[in-house]
Amino acid sequence: MSSPKPSTIRVGHRYRANRLDGPYDAIVIGSGIGGLTTAACMSKLGRKVVVFEQHYTAGGFTHSYDRNGYEWDVGVHYIGDVGADHTLTKRLFDHITDGQLKWAPMDSHFDRIFIGERHVDLVAGPDNFKAELKKAFPGEEQAIDTYLDYLKQVARAMPGLVIGKVLPDLAAGPLRKLVNRTAPSFLNRPTREVLEGLTSNQELIAVLTGQWGDNGLPPAESSFIIHALIARHYLYGGYYPIGGASEMARTIIPVIQQSGGEVFTYADVSEILIEKGKAVGVRMADGEEVRAPLVISNAGVFNTFEKLLPETAPQRDFYQQKLKTVERSMASNCLYIGLQDTAENLELPRTNYWIYPGADYEKQLSDFMAAPDETDIPLTYISFPSAKDPSFTERYPGRATIEIVAPGPYEWYRDWADKTWGKRGEEYEAKKEAYAQRLLAKLYEKFPHLEGKVDYYELSTPLSTDYFCRYSKGEIYGLNHTPSRFEQDWLKPKTRIPGLYLTGQDVMTCGVAGAMIGGLLATIAVSGFKGLPLAKRMFVG
Ligand SMILES: Cc1cc2nc3c(=O)[nH]c(=O)nc-3n(C[C@H](O)[C@H](O)[C@H](O)COP(=O)(O)OP(=O)(O)OC[C@H]3O[C@@H](n4cnc5c(N)ncnc54)[C@H](O)[C@@H]3O)c2cc1C
Repeated sequence: MSSPKPSTIRVGHRYRANRLDGPYDAIVIGSGIGGLTTAACMSKLGRKVVVFEQHYTAGGFTHSYDRNGYEWDVGVHYIGDVGADHTLTKRLFDHITDGQLKWAPMDSHFDRIFIGERHVDLVAGPDNFKAELKKAFPGEEQAIDTYLDYLKQVARAMPGLVIGKVLPDLAAGPLRKLVNRTAPSFLNRPTREVLEGLTSNQELIAVLTGQWGDNGLPPAESSFIIHALIARHYLYGGYYPIGGASEMARTIIPVIQQSGGEVFTYADVSEILIEKGKAVGVRMADGEEVRAPLVISNAGVFNTFEKLLPETAPQRDFYQQKLKTVERSMASNCLYIGLQDTAENLELPRTNYWIYPGADYEKQLSDFMAAPDETDIPLTYISFPSAKDPSFTERYPGRATIEIVAPGPYEWYRDWADKTWGKRGEEYEAKKEAYAQRLLAKLYEKFPHLEGKVDYYELSTPLSTDYFCRYSKGEIYGLNHTPSRFEQDWLKPKTRIPGLYLTGQDVMTCGVAGAMIGGLLATIAVSGFKGLPLAKRMFVG
Protein backbone atom coordinates (compact mmCIF):
# COMPACT_ATOMS: atom_id res chain seq x y z
CA MET A 1 0.00 0.00 0.00
CA SER A 2 1.36 3.48 -0.80
CA SER A 3 1.84 5.84 2.11
CA PRO A 4 -0.34 8.91 2.61
CA LYS A 5 0.72 12.28 1.22
CA PRO A 6 2.36 14.66 3.72
CA SER A 7 -0.13 16.51 5.89
CA THR A 8 -1.33 19.92 4.72
CA ILE A 9 -4.06 20.17 7.31
CA ARG A 10 -2.26 22.36 9.84
CA VAL A 11 -3.26 25.88 8.95
CA GLY A 12 -2.33 29.29 10.35
CA HIS A 13 0.96 30.99 11.10
CA ARG A 14 2.85 30.08 14.28
CA TYR A 15 2.74 32.97 16.75
CA ARG A 16 5.86 34.75 17.91
CA ALA A 17 5.69 38.28 19.28
CA ASN A 18 8.23 39.44 16.68
CA ARG A 19 6.00 38.20 13.88
CA LEU A 20 3.26 40.68 14.74
CA ASP A 21 2.82 43.39 12.14
CA GLY A 22 0.51 45.94 13.76
CA PRO A 23 -1.17 48.25 14.13
CA TYR A 24 -4.28 46.16 13.59
CA ASP A 25 -7.83 47.45 13.23
CA ALA A 26 -9.17 44.54 15.26
CA ILE A 27 -8.12 41.52 17.28
CA VAL A 28 -10.18 38.32 17.12
CA ILE A 29 -9.70 35.86 20.00
CA GLY A 30 -10.16 32.34 18.61
CA SER A 31 -10.11 31.00 15.07
CA GLY A 32 -13.37 29.05 15.10
CA ILE A 33 -15.51 29.50 12.01
CA GLY A 34 -17.23 32.44 13.74
CA GLY A 35 -13.93 34.24 14.35
CA LEU A 36 -12.63 33.49 10.86
CA THR A 37 -15.90 34.70 9.31
CA THR A 38 -15.69 38.01 11.15
CA ALA A 39 -12.01 38.47 10.27
CA ALA A 40 -12.58 37.65 6.57
CA CYS A 41 -15.69 39.85 6.27
CA MET A 42 -13.82 42.73 7.91
CA SER A 43 -10.85 42.17 5.61
CA LYS A 44 -13.22 42.45 2.64
CA LEU A 45 -14.21 45.84 4.08
CA GLY A 46 -10.54 46.88 4.11
CA ARG A 47 -9.81 46.23 7.80
CA LYS A 48 -6.58 44.67 8.99
CA VAL A 49 -7.47 41.95 11.50
CA VAL A 50 -5.29 39.65 13.56
CA VAL A 51 -6.73 36.33 14.81
CA PHE A 52 -5.17 34.63 17.83
CA GLU A 53 -5.74 30.88 18.19
CA GLN A 54 -4.35 28.97 21.17
CA HIS A 55 -4.40 25.58 19.39
CA TYR A 56 -1.63 24.41 17.01
CA THR A 57 -3.97 24.75 14.03
CA ALA A 58 -6.73 27.15 13.06
CA GLY A 59 -10.44 26.39 12.70
CA GLY A 60 -11.72 25.67 16.22
CA PHE A 61 -14.25 22.84 15.87
CA THR A 62 -13.70 22.96 12.10
CA HIS A 63 -10.07 21.89 12.41
CA SER A 64 -8.88 18.48 11.23
CA TYR A 65 -6.08 16.43 12.73
CA ASP A 66 -3.98 13.56 11.51
CA ARG A 67 -2.35 10.64 13.27
CA ASN A 68 -0.94 7.27 12.20
CA GLY A 69 -1.55 8.05 8.56
CA TYR A 70 -5.22 8.98 8.95
CA GLU A 71 -7.06 12.29 9.07
CA TRP A 72 -10.28 13.13 10.91
CA ASP A 73 -12.56 16.10 11.43
CA VAL A 74 -13.61 17.16 14.87
CA GLY A 75 -16.84 19.12 14.46
CA VAL A 76 -17.86 18.94 10.81
CA HIS A 77 -19.80 15.92 9.58
CA TYR A 78 -22.16 17.61 7.19
CA ILE A 79 -23.27 21.07 6.17
CA GLY A 80 -26.65 21.98 4.68
CA ASP A 81 -27.78 24.76 2.37
CA VAL A 82 -24.65 24.77 0.21
CA GLY A 83 -26.08 22.96 -2.80
CA ALA A 84 -27.54 26.13 -4.34
CA ASP A 85 -26.00 29.59 -4.72
CA HIS A 86 -28.94 31.59 -3.37
CA THR A 87 -28.78 30.52 0.29
CA LEU A 88 -27.22 32.68 2.99
CA THR A 89 -24.85 29.85 4.00
CA LYS A 90 -23.52 29.37 0.46
CA ARG A 91 -23.25 33.10 -0.22
CA LEU A 92 -21.34 33.58 3.02
CA PHE A 93 -18.95 30.68 2.36
CA ASP A 94 -18.28 32.00 -1.16
CA HIS A 95 -17.70 35.50 0.22
CA ILE A 96 -15.18 34.52 2.89
CA THR A 97 -13.28 31.98 0.76
CA ASP A 98 -13.38 33.88 -2.56
CA GLY A 99 -15.33 30.89 -3.86
CA GLN A 100 -12.41 28.52 -3.20
CA LEU A 101 -14.22 26.03 -0.96
CA LYS A 102 -15.97 23.25 -2.89
CA TRP A 103 -18.66 20.86 -1.76
CA ALA A 104 -19.55 17.23 -2.40
CA PRO A 105 -23.15 16.03 -1.90
CA MET A 106 -23.84 13.12 0.41
CA ASP A 107 -26.24 10.32 -0.54
CA SER A 108 -29.77 11.61 -1.12
CA HIS A 109 -30.77 9.79 2.08
CA PHE A 110 -28.27 11.82 4.08
CA ASP A 111 -29.44 10.80 7.59
CA ARG A 112 -30.68 7.33 8.59
CA ILE A 113 -32.56 7.22 11.88
CA PHE A 114 -32.65 3.86 13.67
CA ILE A 115 -35.35 3.49 16.32
CA GLY A 116 -34.80 0.08 17.85
CA GLU A 117 -35.12 -2.46 15.05
CA ARG A 118 -36.58 -0.17 12.37
CA HIS A 119 -35.04 2.68 10.43
CA VAL A 120 -36.37 5.62 8.43
CA ASP A 121 -34.32 7.82 6.11
CA LEU A 122 -34.31 11.60 5.91
CA VAL A 123 -34.16 12.31 2.19
CA ALA A 124 -32.96 15.47 0.40
CA GLY A 125 -35.61 17.83 -1.01
CA PRO A 126 -38.91 18.72 0.70
CA ASP A 127 -41.04 16.56 -1.63
CA ASN A 128 -38.82 13.49 -1.27
CA PHE A 129 -38.50 14.14 2.45
CA LYS A 130 -42.27 14.17 2.85
CA ALA A 131 -42.83 11.19 0.54
CA GLU A 132 -40.38 9.03 2.48
CA LEU A 133 -41.99 9.90 5.81
CA LYS A 134 -45.50 9.35 4.49
CA LYS A 135 -44.46 5.92 3.20
CA ALA A 136 -43.05 5.05 6.63
CA PHE A 137 -45.99 6.50 8.59
CA PRO A 138 -49.29 5.93 6.72
CA GLY A 139 -52.16 7.87 8.28
CA GLU A 140 -49.82 10.70 9.39
CA GLU A 141 -49.94 12.66 6.11
CA GLN A 142 -51.63 15.70 7.68
CA ALA A 143 -49.13 15.87 10.56
CA ILE A 144 -46.19 15.61 8.15
CA ASP A 145 -47.52 18.38 5.89
CA THR A 146 -48.19 20.65 8.86
CA TYR A 147 -44.72 19.91 10.24
CA LEU A 148 -43.09 21.08 7.00
CA ASP A 149 -45.28 24.17 7.11
CA TYR A 150 -44.14 24.87 10.70
CA LEU A 151 -40.50 24.76 9.53
CA LYS A 152 -41.33 27.40 6.93
CA GLN A 153 -43.05 29.58 9.51
CA VAL A 154 -39.97 29.49 11.75
CA ALA A 155 -37.78 30.48 8.79
CA ARG A 156 -40.09 33.45 8.15
CA ALA A 157 -39.83 34.58 11.78
CA MET A 158 -36.02 34.46 11.84
CA PRO A 159 -35.19 37.83 10.22
CA GLY A 160 -36.79 39.61 13.20
CA LEU A 161 -34.66 37.63 15.66
CA VAL A 162 -31.50 38.10 13.59
CA ILE A 163 -31.91 41.85 13.06
CA GLY A 164 -32.57 42.30 16.78
CA LYS A 165 -29.00 41.10 17.43
CA VAL A 166 -27.48 44.15 15.77
CA LEU A 167 -29.94 46.88 16.68
CA PRO A 168 -29.25 49.20 19.59
CA ASP A 169 -31.14 48.21 22.79
CA LEU A 170 -33.66 51.01 22.31
CA ALA A 171 -34.79 49.59 18.97
CA ALA A 172 -34.20 45.89 19.74
CA GLY A 173 -36.73 45.88 22.62
CA PRO A 174 -39.71 47.04 20.51
CA LEU A 175 -38.63 44.73 17.69
CA ARG A 176 -38.67 41.75 20.07
CA LYS A 177 -42.17 42.70 21.19
CA LEU A 178 -43.24 42.83 17.53
CA VAL A 179 -41.67 39.44 16.82
CA ASN A 180 -43.38 37.96 19.89
CA ARG A 181 -46.74 39.34 18.70
CA THR A 182 -46.47 38.26 15.07
CA ALA A 183 -44.48 35.01 15.31
CA PRO A 184 -46.33 31.68 15.44
CA SER A 185 -47.21 30.65 18.99
CA PHE A 186 -45.06 27.49 18.74
CA LEU A 187 -41.89 29.37 17.75
CA ASN A 188 -39.99 29.15 21.03
CA ARG A 189 -41.87 26.29 22.70
CA PRO A 190 -40.16 23.00 23.59
CA THR A 191 -39.77 20.83 20.48
CA ARG A 192 -41.55 17.78 21.89
CA GLU A 193 -44.53 19.85 23.00
CA VAL A 194 -44.89 21.34 19.49
CA LEU A 195 -44.69 17.94 17.79
CA GLU A 196 -47.08 16.31 20.25
CA GLY A 197 -49.54 18.99 19.17
CA LEU A 198 -49.29 17.53 15.66
CA THR A 199 -49.29 13.79 16.27
CA SER A 200 -49.42 11.20 19.01
CA ASN A 201 -47.24 8.82 16.99
CA GLN A 202 -44.10 8.63 19.14
CA GLU A 203 -42.07 6.89 16.44
CA LEU A 204 -42.81 9.67 13.98
CA ILE A 205 -41.77 12.24 16.59
CA ALA A 206 -38.59 10.24 17.18
CA VAL A 207 -37.76 10.24 13.47
CA LEU A 208 -38.49 13.97 13.10
CA THR A 209 -36.25 14.71 16.09
CA GLY A 210 -33.67 12.08 15.16
CA GLN A 211 -31.12 14.85 14.54
CA TRP A 212 -31.29 16.07 18.14
CA GLY A 213 -27.61 15.31 18.53
CA ASP A 214 -26.95 18.21 16.13
CA ASN A 215 -27.81 20.64 18.92
CA GLY A 216 -27.24 18.44 21.95
CA LEU A 217 -30.63 18.68 23.67
CA PRO A 218 -33.34 16.01 23.54
CA PRO A 219 -36.65 17.30 22.16
CA ALA A 220 -38.38 17.85 25.51
CA GLU A 221 -35.73 20.43 26.41
CA SER A 222 -34.80 22.12 23.15
CA SER A 223 -36.51 25.15 21.67
CA PHE A 224 -38.47 24.50 18.49
CA ILE A 225 -36.39 27.33 16.98
CA ILE A 226 -33.19 25.27 16.96
CA HIS A 227 -35.03 22.12 15.92
CA ALA A 228 -36.61 23.87 12.93
CA LEU A 229 -33.41 25.71 11.93
CA ILE A 230 -31.44 22.46 11.81
CA ALA A 231 -34.20 20.50 10.06
CA ARG A 232 -34.52 23.28 7.42
CA HIS A 233 -30.74 23.55 7.11
CA TYR A 234 -30.51 19.93 5.93
CA LEU A 235 -33.83 19.78 4.08
CA TYR A 236 -32.12 20.02 0.69
CA GLY A 237 -29.45 17.48 1.66
CA GLY A 238 -26.09 17.20 3.38
CA TYR A 239 -22.75 18.29 1.89
CA TYR A 240 -19.14 17.78 2.81
CA PRO A 241 -16.19 20.14 2.15
CA ILE A 242 -13.93 18.58 -0.48
CA GLY A 243 -10.51 18.07 1.12
CA GLY A 244 -11.99 17.84 4.63
CA ALA A 245 -12.96 20.41 7.25
CA SER A 246 -9.51 22.02 7.40
CA GLU A 247 -10.20 23.38 3.90
CA MET A 248 -12.45 25.94 5.56
CA ALA A 249 -9.63 27.70 7.43
CA ARG A 250 -7.20 27.05 4.57
CA THR A 251 -9.41 28.91 2.09
CA ILE A 252 -10.48 31.70 4.47
CA ILE A 253 -7.01 32.72 5.72
CA PRO A 254 -5.84 34.21 2.36
CA VAL A 255 -8.92 36.46 2.43
CA ILE A 256 -7.96 37.69 5.92
CA GLN A 257 -4.44 38.33 4.62
CA GLN A 258 -5.74 40.43 1.70
CA SER A 259 -5.99 43.51 3.95
CA GLY A 260 -2.77 42.77 5.85
CA GLY A 261 -4.30 40.57 8.53
CA GLU A 262 -3.02 37.23 9.84
CA VAL A 263 -4.14 34.12 11.72
CA PHE A 264 -1.69 33.05 14.42
CA THR A 265 -1.72 29.62 16.05
CA TYR A 266 -0.12 28.73 19.43
CA ALA A 267 -1.37 32.23 20.28
CA ASP A 268 -2.95 32.02 23.70
CA VAL A 269 -4.77 35.15 24.89
CA SER A 270 -4.72 35.40 28.68
CA GLU A 271 -6.60 38.67 29.24
CA ILE A 272 -8.57 41.41 27.55
CA LEU A 273 -6.97 44.77 28.28
CA ILE A 274 -9.40 47.34 29.66
CA GLU A 275 -8.47 51.00 30.00
CA LYS A 276 -10.84 53.78 31.04
CA GLY A 277 -13.71 51.32 30.76
CA LYS A 278 -12.91 50.31 27.18
CA ALA A 279 -11.40 47.19 25.60
CA VAL A 280 -8.12 48.32 24.05
CA GLY A 281 -6.32 45.07 23.24
CA VAL A 282 -5.23 41.76 24.71
CA ARG A 283 -2.40 40.33 26.77
CA MET A 284 -0.93 37.13 25.40
CA ALA A 285 0.15 34.22 27.59
CA ASP A 286 3.80 35.21 26.93
CA GLY A 287 3.09 38.65 28.41
CA GLU A 288 3.07 40.51 25.10
CA GLU A 289 0.42 43.25 24.90
CA VAL A 290 -1.26 43.75 21.54
CA ARG A 291 -3.47 46.81 21.07
CA ALA A 292 -6.35 47.49 18.72
CA PRO A 293 -9.52 49.61 18.91
CA LEU A 294 -11.72 46.49 18.56
CA VAL A 295 -11.50 43.18 20.43
CA ILE A 296 -13.84 40.48 19.15
CA SER A 297 -14.13 37.29 21.17
CA ASN A 298 -14.85 33.93 19.53
CA ALA A 299 -13.98 32.11 22.76
CA GLY A 300 -17.59 31.70 23.94
CA VAL A 301 -19.36 33.71 26.63
CA PHE A 302 -18.10 31.62 29.58
CA ASN A 303 -14.44 32.05 28.58
CA THR A 304 -14.90 35.69 27.64
CA PHE A 305 -16.66 36.94 30.75
CA GLU A 306 -15.32 34.49 33.36
CA LYS A 307 -11.71 34.07 32.27
CA LEU A 308 -10.59 36.80 29.88
CA LEU A 309 -12.29 39.85 31.34
CA PRO A 310 -10.26 41.20 34.28
CA GLU A 311 -11.92 41.16 37.74
CA THR A 312 -11.93 44.96 37.78
CA ALA A 313 -13.57 45.39 34.37
CA PRO A 314 -16.76 47.43 34.26
CA GLN A 315 -19.92 45.38 33.68
CA ARG A 316 -18.20 42.21 34.89
CA ASP A 317 -20.86 41.76 37.56
CA PHE A 318 -23.60 42.28 34.98
CA TYR A 319 -22.19 39.47 32.84
CA GLN A 320 -21.56 37.18 35.86
CA GLN A 321 -25.29 37.46 36.60
CA LYS A 322 -26.19 36.87 32.98
CA LEU A 323 -24.04 33.73 32.78
CA LYS A 324 -26.34 32.22 35.40
CA THR A 325 -29.21 32.40 32.90
CA VAL A 326 -27.57 30.06 30.37
CA GLU A 327 -26.28 26.48 30.51
CA ARG A 328 -23.36 24.75 28.89
CA SER A 329 -24.35 22.26 26.18
CA MET A 330 -23.73 18.50 26.24
CA ALA A 331 -20.30 16.90 26.24
CA SER A 332 -19.40 13.86 24.17
CA ASN A 333 -16.94 11.11 23.41
CA CYS A 334 -15.81 10.62 19.85
CA LEU A 335 -14.19 7.48 18.46
CA TYR A 336 -11.85 8.17 15.54
CA ILE A 337 -11.32 5.03 13.47
CA GLY A 338 -8.86 4.19 10.68
CA LEU A 339 -9.19 1.26 8.25
CA GLN A 340 -6.66 -0.02 5.74
CA ASP A 341 -8.88 -0.15 2.69
CA THR A 342 -10.85 2.40 0.69
CA ALA A 343 -14.35 3.56 1.60
CA GLU A 344 -15.50 2.16 -1.73
CA ASN A 345 -14.09 -1.31 -1.13
CA LEU A 346 -15.48 -1.30 2.39
CA GLU A 347 -18.88 -0.13 1.08
CA LEU A 348 -19.07 2.76 3.52
CA PRO A 349 -22.09 4.99 2.90
CA ARG A 350 -22.32 8.76 2.46
CA THR A 351 -25.13 8.65 5.01
CA ASN A 352 -24.96 9.46 8.72
CA TYR A 353 -26.33 6.75 11.03
CA TRP A 354 -28.25 7.87 14.14
CA ILE A 355 -28.81 4.84 16.35
CA TYR A 356 -31.36 4.95 19.19
CA PRO A 357 -32.50 1.98 21.28
CA GLY A 358 -36.12 3.26 21.19
CA ALA A 359 -38.34 6.30 20.69
CA ASP A 360 -38.26 7.72 24.24
CA TYR A 361 -35.10 9.77 23.92
CA GLU A 362 -35.38 11.61 27.21
CA LYS A 363 -35.84 8.46 29.32
CA GLN A 364 -33.03 6.61 27.55
CA LEU A 365 -30.70 9.54 28.11
CA SER A 366 -31.53 9.99 31.79
CA ASP A 367 -31.33 6.22 32.48
CA PHE A 368 -27.92 6.16 30.81
CA MET A 369 -26.64 9.13 32.80
CA ALA A 370 -27.76 7.46 36.02
CA ALA A 371 -26.20 4.04 35.21
CA PRO A 372 -23.98 4.28 32.12
CA ASP A 373 -22.43 0.82 32.44
CA GLU A 374 -25.73 -1.04 32.69
CA THR A 375 -27.77 0.99 30.18
CA ASP A 376 -27.67 0.92 26.40
CA ILE A 377 -26.05 3.98 24.79
CA PRO A 378 -28.97 6.37 24.17
CA LEU A 379 -27.54 7.94 21.00
CA THR A 380 -24.77 6.62 18.77
CA TYR A 381 -23.95 8.73 15.74
CA ILE A 382 -21.77 7.20 13.00
CA SER A 383 -20.26 9.25 10.19
CA PHE A 384 -18.09 8.16 7.26
CA PRO A 385 -15.94 11.16 6.27
CA SER A 386 -13.65 9.37 3.82
CA ALA A 387 -16.72 8.18 1.89
CA LYS A 388 -18.06 11.74 1.74
CA ASP A 389 -14.80 13.32 0.54
CA PRO A 390 -14.02 12.60 -3.14
CA SER A 391 -10.41 13.71 -2.57
CA PHE A 392 -9.73 11.35 0.35
CA THR A 393 -8.48 8.35 -1.61
CA GLU A 394 -6.04 10.50 -3.53
CA ARG A 395 -4.76 12.05 -0.30
CA TYR A 396 -4.79 8.80 1.70
CA PRO A 397 -4.56 5.93 -0.79
CA GLY A 398 -5.93 2.62 0.44
CA ARG A 399 -7.37 4.08 3.63
CA ALA A 400 -10.74 4.99 5.09
CA THR A 401 -12.04 6.65 8.24
CA ILE A 402 -15.11 6.48 10.45
CA GLU A 403 -16.17 8.72 13.37
CA ILE A 404 -18.59 7.74 16.12
CA VAL A 405 -19.99 10.33 18.54
CA ALA A 406 -21.91 9.47 21.71
CA PRO A 407 -22.83 11.25 24.94
CA GLY A 408 -20.01 11.34 27.49
CA PRO A 409 -20.46 13.69 30.42
CA TYR A 410 -17.55 15.67 31.79
CA GLU A 411 -18.20 14.25 35.28
CA TRP A 412 -17.02 10.79 34.15
CA TYR A 413 -13.56 12.21 33.55
CA ARG A 414 -13.38 14.95 36.17
CA ASP A 415 -10.77 13.06 38.24
CA TRP A 416 -8.24 13.41 35.41
CA ALA A 417 -9.00 17.03 34.54
CA ASP A 418 -5.79 18.37 36.08
CA LYS A 419 -3.57 15.76 34.39
CA THR A 420 -1.57 16.47 31.26
CA TRP A 421 -2.97 15.50 27.86
CA GLY A 422 -1.59 12.13 26.75
CA LYS A 423 -0.41 11.33 30.29
CA ARG A 424 -3.60 10.70 32.19
CA GLY A 425 -2.65 7.19 33.21
CA GLU A 426 -3.89 3.62 32.96
CA GLU A 427 -7.23 4.00 34.70
CA TYR A 428 -8.26 6.79 32.32
CA GLU A 429 -7.11 4.77 29.32
CA ALA A 430 -9.01 1.70 30.57
CA LYS A 431 -12.19 3.73 30.98
CA LYS A 432 -11.80 5.04 27.45
CA GLU A 433 -11.09 1.58 26.07
CA ALA A 434 -14.26 0.16 27.63
CA TYR A 435 -16.40 2.85 25.96
CA ALA A 436 -14.51 2.48 22.67
CA GLN A 437 -15.39 -1.24 22.63
CA ARG A 438 -19.07 -0.46 23.18
CA LEU A 439 -19.01 1.98 20.26
CA LEU A 440 -17.19 -0.50 18.02
CA ALA A 441 -19.87 -3.08 18.86
CA LYS A 442 -22.51 -0.57 17.66
CA LEU A 443 -20.58 -0.18 14.41
CA TYR A 444 -20.27 -3.95 13.84
CA GLU A 445 -23.99 -4.41 14.54
CA LYS A 446 -24.75 -2.33 11.42
CA PHE A 447 -21.63 -3.23 9.41
CA PRO A 448 -20.61 -6.78 10.41
CA HIS A 449 -18.14 -6.99 7.51
CA LEU A 450 -15.97 -4.33 9.17
CA GLU A 451 -15.10 -6.60 12.09
CA GLY A 452 -11.39 -7.39 11.86
CA LYS A 453 -10.78 -4.49 9.43
CA VAL A 454 -10.13 -1.72 11.96
CA ASP A 455 -6.47 -0.73 11.93
CA TYR A 456 -6.46 2.11 14.44
CA TYR A 457 -8.84 3.88 16.84
CA GLU A 458 -8.69 6.45 19.57
CA LEU A 459 -11.36 7.97 21.77
CA SER A 460 -11.61 11.64 22.64
CA THR A 461 -13.31 12.72 25.87
CA PRO A 462 -14.66 16.04 27.18
CA LEU A 463 -11.13 16.65 28.50
CA SER A 464 -9.88 16.56 24.90
CA THR A 465 -12.55 19.12 23.91
CA ASP A 466 -11.35 21.37 26.72
CA TYR A 467 -7.68 20.89 25.89
CA PHE A 468 -7.97 21.59 22.16
CA CYS A 469 -10.92 23.98 21.93
CA ARG A 470 -11.16 25.47 25.46
CA TYR A 471 -14.62 24.40 26.54
CA SER A 472 -13.99 23.74 30.21
CA LYS A 473 -16.79 21.19 30.71
CA GLY A 474 -16.26 19.62 27.29
CA GLU A 475 -19.41 21.21 25.89
CA ILE A 476 -19.58 20.74 22.13
CA TYR A 477 -22.19 23.32 21.11
CA GLY A 478 -21.48 26.32 23.33
CA LEU A 479 -24.72 27.10 25.15
CA ASN A 480 -27.79 24.89 25.43
CA HIS A 481 -30.54 25.83 22.98
CA THR A 482 -33.40 25.99 25.47
CA PRO A 483 -36.38 28.33 24.99
CA SER A 484 -34.84 30.52 27.69
CA ARG A 485 -31.59 30.95 25.70
CA PHE A 486 -33.55 32.50 22.86
CA GLU A 487 -34.95 35.10 25.28
CA GLN A 488 -31.49 36.35 26.28
CA ASP A 489 -31.10 39.80 24.72
CA TRP A 490 -27.49 40.09 25.95
CA LEU A 491 -26.37 37.26 23.62
CA LYS A 492 -25.44 39.58 20.78
CA PRO A 493 -22.24 40.90 19.19
CA LYS A 494 -22.03 44.28 20.92
CA THR A 495 -21.26 43.97 24.63
CA ARG A 496 -21.78 46.62 27.28
CA ILE A 497 -18.03 47.21 27.29
CA PRO A 498 -17.06 49.67 24.54
CA GLY A 499 -14.70 48.06 22.03
CA LEU A 500 -15.56 44.47 23.06
CA TYR A 501 -17.69 42.31 20.74
CA LEU A 502 -18.72 38.64 20.55
CA THR A 503 -18.74 36.34 17.54
CA GLY A 504 -19.42 32.63 16.94
CA GLN A 505 -22.00 30.12 18.09
CA ASP A 506 -23.06 31.85 21.31
CA VAL A 507 -24.38 34.86 19.36
CA MET A 508 -27.06 33.08 17.32
CA THR A 509 -26.90 29.25 17.38
CA CYS A 510 -24.46 26.37 17.17
CA GLY A 511 -23.52 24.66 13.92
CA VAL A 512 -21.03 25.85 11.36
CA ALA A 513 -23.68 27.95 9.62
CA GLY A 514 -25.02 29.27 12.94
CA ALA A 515 -21.53 30.33 14.08
CA MET A 516 -20.87 31.94 10.69
CA ILE A 517 -24.04 33.99 10.98
CA GLY A 518 -22.77 35.05 14.41
CA GLY A 519 -19.57 36.09 12.60
CA LEU A 520 -21.46 38.05 9.98
CA LEU A 521 -23.56 39.81 12.63
CA ALA A 522 -20.39 40.75 14.54
CA THR A 523 -18.98 42.33 11.36
CA ILE A 524 -22.18 44.29 10.82
CA ALA A 525 -22.19 45.40 14.48
CA VAL A 526 -18.61 46.74 14.36
CA SER A 527 -18.97 48.30 10.91
CA GLY A 528 -22.08 50.44 11.38
CA PHE A 529 -23.30 51.99 8.13
CA LYS A 530 -20.27 50.63 6.26
CA GLY A 531 -21.56 47.13 6.94
CA LEU A 532 -24.98 47.72 5.37
CA PRO A 533 -24.04 46.75 1.78
CA LEU A 534 -22.55 43.50 3.13
CA ALA A 535 -25.72 42.84 5.15
CA LYS A 536 -27.86 43.47 2.07
CA ARG A 537 -25.70 41.27 -0.14
CA MET A 538 -25.74 38.38 2.30
CA PHE A 539 -29.30 38.50 3.60
CA VAL A 540 -31.10 39.75 0.47
CA GLY A 541 -28.77 38.62 -2.33
C1 LIG B 1 -18.44 16.51 17.71
C2 LIG B 1 -19.04 17.69 16.98
C3 LIG B 1 -19.73 17.47 15.81
C4 LIG B 1 -20.27 18.55 15.10
N1 LIG B 1 -20.85 18.33 13.88
C5 LIG B 1 -21.30 19.38 13.15
C6 LIG B 1 -21.78 19.20 11.83
O1 LIG B 1 -21.77 18.10 11.30
N2 LIG B 1 -22.25 20.29 11.16
C7 LIG B 1 -22.27 21.53 11.71
O2 LIG B 1 -22.72 22.48 11.07
N3 LIG B 1 -21.80 21.73 12.98
C8 LIG B 1 -21.30 20.70 13.69
N4 LIG B 1 -20.79 20.90 14.94
C9 LIG B 1 -20.88 22.24 15.56
C10 LIG B 1 -19.91 23.24 14.97
O3 LIG B 1 -18.67 22.62 14.74
C11 LIG B 1 -19.74 24.41 15.96
O4 LIG B 1 -21.01 24.87 16.37
C12 LIG B 1 -18.96 25.58 15.35
O5 LIG B 1 -17.85 25.13 14.63
C13 LIG B 1 -18.53 26.52 16.47
O6 LIG B 1 -17.79 27.59 15.92
P1 LIG B 1 -17.33 28.83 16.78
O7 LIG B 1 -16.66 29.77 15.86
O8 LIG B 1 -18.46 29.37 17.58
O9 LIG B 1 -16.32 28.32 17.89
P2 LIG B 1 -15.18 27.23 18.04
O10 LIG B 1 -15.07 26.38 16.85
O11 LIG B 1 -15.43 26.57 19.33
O12 LIG B 1 -13.85 28.10 18.15
C14 LIG B 1 -13.48 28.81 19.28
C15 LIG B 1 -11.96 28.92 19.23
O13 LIG B 1 -11.50 29.83 20.24
C16 LIG B 1 -10.24 29.36 20.68
N5 LIG B 1 -9.94 29.98 21.97
C17 LIG B 1 -10.66 29.90 23.12
N6 LIG B 1 -10.06 30.61 24.09
C18 LIG B 1 -8.94 31.15 23.55
C19 LIG B 1 -7.89 31.98 24.05
N7 LIG B 1 -7.90 32.39 25.33
N8 LIG B 1 -6.89 32.36 23.22
C20 LIG B 1 -6.88 31.95 21.91
N9 LIG B 1 -7.84 31.15 21.39
C21 LIG B 1 -8.85 30.77 22.19
C22 LIG B 1 -10.45 27.85 20.78
O14 LIG B 1 -9.22 27.17 20.80
C23 LIG B 1 -11.26 27.60 19.50
O15 LIG B 1 -10.41 27.30 18.42
C24 LIG B 1 -20.18 19.85 15.63
C25 LIG B 1 -19.46 20.07 16.81
C26 LIG B 1 -18.86 19.01 17.46
C27 LIG B 1 -18.01 19.28 18.65
